[in-house]
Amino acid sequence: MSLFRSSTRWMLLSLLSLGACDTRRATPPAASPSNATAPMGADQNRLYADVKFLTSLQPARHYRNLKSLNEAADYIKTEFEKLDDGRVEEQPFRADGRQYRNIIVSFGSVDAPRLIVGAHYDVCGDTPGADDNASAVAGLLETARLLQQLGSNLKYRVELVAYPNEEPPYFATEYMGSAVHAKSLYEAKVPVRAMLCYEMIGYFRDEPGSQRFPNEQLAARYPNTGNFITVVGRTGQEAFTQQVQALMQTKADVDVQRINLPAEMGLAGLSDHRSYWKYGYEALMINDTAFLRNPNYHLPSDTIDTLDFRRMAEVVNGVYAVLLGL
Ligand SMILES: [Zn+2]
Repeated sequence: MSLFRSSTRWMLLSLLSLGACDTRRATPPAASPSNATAPMGADQNRLYADVKFLTSLQPARHYRNLKSLNEAADYIKTEFEKLDDGRVEEQPFRADGRQYRNIIVSFGSVDAPRLIVGAHYDVCGDTPGADDNASAVAGLLETARLLQQLGSNLKYRVELVAYPNEEPPYFATEYMGSAVHAKSLYEAKVPVRAMLCYEMIGYFRDEPGSQRFPNEQLAARYPNTGNFITVVGRTGQEAFTQQVQALMQTKADVDVQRINLPAEMGLAGLSDHRSYWKYGYEALMINDTAFLRNPNYHLPSDTIDTLDFRRMAEVVNGVYAVLLGL
């Protein structure tokens, strides 16, 4: 999630108050009760291990620290390569003389229309980036692991992409990993069903008043307790946003809200899905509302101990239902 080039007044206020970026089984054995239930859901322990790895990289995995950024990319690629049904590839590109790469795994028929799921693996400045955006990368990896159980029964070619360069200084430029990926689809005339962006999916609060809003109108429409996940889309794509919310609600044991805002307002497009809007594709973000809830946004305090792994797993279960149901 990036606030770079945002200009509405409340965003500036948020920056001032929070600090800007510098930064199944027939006879289950009685001794193994956990095997009695079908292991079909997202695994909190795996999510934790992914976030732990990414947030432990030193120095922080931002655009100038290529060693750490490449360690993050290698980790993602290795996790993808563990999945026999997945096709793994890299999409390299250059920006300001430096080499970057998208890491991609795809499932389902090669020729089927593409359904993209993305998440950025870089961080803003010198921060651990647990919520922003290790939580989303962990969600992406766990989504891939769940897809491994499905093989070729997918309606779409589901393509999971991990991007660098979502954060400043490349936000909203052609050097975002997502911009490179979206452009490549468009130029190859690939049929694209839609794109779903995981962006900050790990921070939840149960105290009343823990959710803030940019204005009174939105405050009146949504819960003021920050324990929900939000499907954020742009004006004109309401049916898509509603469909994704409804599908998530069938499998996610967490409240799923939705909102559509004008793209020009800025707030709706603060992550990699914006790169797909550019070519007319339907795209949205799955988001915990970022700086409107998480006081650690773009700060050194965005650490693993602040995340809610039970609800993160439920978000992934919801997105998985979308991939099967869309
Ligand atoms: Zn961010």
